[in-house]
Amino acid sequence: MLLFPGDRLDSYQILDRIGQGGHNIDRMPNGHMRRSKGMRNLAILIAAAGLATQAAAQDRKLLVISIDGMDHRYLKDRDALKLRIPNLRKLLEQGAWADGVMGIVPTVTWPSHTTLVTGVGAEEHGILDNNIQTVKGSERYWYSSYLKAPVLWQAAKQAGKRTAAIHWPVTVGAAIDYNLPEYFQARLGGAMDLKSTEEKSTRGLVKEIAEEYPSFLTPWMDDRTRTLGTIYVLKRYQPDLTLLHLMDHDEVAHKAGPFSREAMATLEYTDELLGQILAAAPANTVVAIVSDHGFEAAPRELNVAAYFAAKKIAAGGTVVRGGYLITYDAAVAAALSEARVDSGSCVGREIPRSEVDRFLPGTTPEARLFEPAAGCFFATGKAGGEIVSSRPSAGQHGHWPTRYRAVFLMAGPGIQRQGLPEMDMRDAVKHFAKVIGIAWPPKR
Ligand SMILES: [Zn+2]
Repeated sequence: MLLFPGDRLDSYQILDRIGQGGHNIDRMPNGHMRRSKGMRNLAILIAAAGLATQAAAQDRKLLVISIDGMDHRYLKDRDALKLRIPNLRKLLEQGAWADGVMGIVPTVTWPSHTTLVTGVGAEEHGILDNNIQTVKGSERYWYSSYLKAPVLWQAAKQAGKRTAAIHWPVTVGAAIDYNLPEYFQARLGGAMDLKSTEEKSTRGLVKEIAEEYPSFLTPWMDDRTRTLGTIYVLKRYQPDLTLLHLMDHDEVAHKAGPFSREAMATLEYTDELLGQILAAAPANTVVAIVSDHGFEAAPRELNVAAYFAAKKIAAGGTVVRGGYLITYDAAVAAALSEARVDSGSCVGREIPRSEVDRFLPGTTPEARLFEPAAGCFFATGKAGGEIVSSRPSAGQHGHWPTRYRAVFLMAGPGIQRQGLPEMDMRDAVKHFAKVIGIAWPPKR
């Protein structure tokens, strides 16, 4: 099965091709194969027999870098946007790049990151939102004990691989060898207090990093120090699987709006950090650049309670989720359908049943879902307030997945340059597993 760029591929073949890196011996990361002519010939024989997969996979390392909130359009329209992102551009030129990634419901950070490493939607993996209601109040789904589905780092460990994670969501208490989990008690924009992370980290790791990079100890852990931590772990331990979550771009896109000059500058800054990370990665590293969701400008919001009060309809039986709402009340659904006629109302499309079944399987037939109009977001609100008002944050996500796309790009040893069709976010983990040569889904 020799595949060349330009071949028409079905999704199974594409998966095969990314994971196996084709059969191009020269591009194989396996140093052993280049040591002697004899070994090289042997390698060719093995490849010819179609057995190259394992030899290559055993040696490759995977570095997954999530750039939070990086909408697919930043890469697709990089020239029109005049983005100075030389490292991302280089990876695009060398790697396999999907024509966008269709997210899950909700298109929110913690559930989506968990889908990237479990391959299943929120209901199945158990991380339903960023936050969970606990006896202590609302807090993040910090702990890996919340995970209901098998996760990539477990499968890697079971296969004898060494793993690392830097500010990856839902990793407090996870069986990860070098772990700086996303955990904070205080935040300053996208930065989180280092003390909290240290408390939950692999014992001694923060101290070790600081010995090599003293400025790691600034009180707020941001993308700069996330990068330092990653570089340290890559150089010192060379894990087989490293997961890094960069967040500064998302933070700025919320505040200044997606595609604003601030959001683009922060993406360019992220690219600078990426360059430093790539320079530190072992030679046999495959790098995957992913994101968790796209982004929309949302300068207005609809106060749903005030809207219902004005229409004199009971607001019961309606759940407001920001990027969409669900109503079980026929009168509410009728009012929302009517509101669409008024272009200033902020109410968008009723989500067709086929899409509801696709993204929220198991939703009862009585439920009807609506999404906000472009530029709007739903807020629960209070009955007395203004119906449509301007929002404090200029950018938002959490919308219905079809409205934007996330990113998937993979480059490195054995990965051929190619355009891939649009990808389902739940498929990313299969590619990750294949790069490091582990079975997915893992055997329970
Ligand atoms: Zn996010």
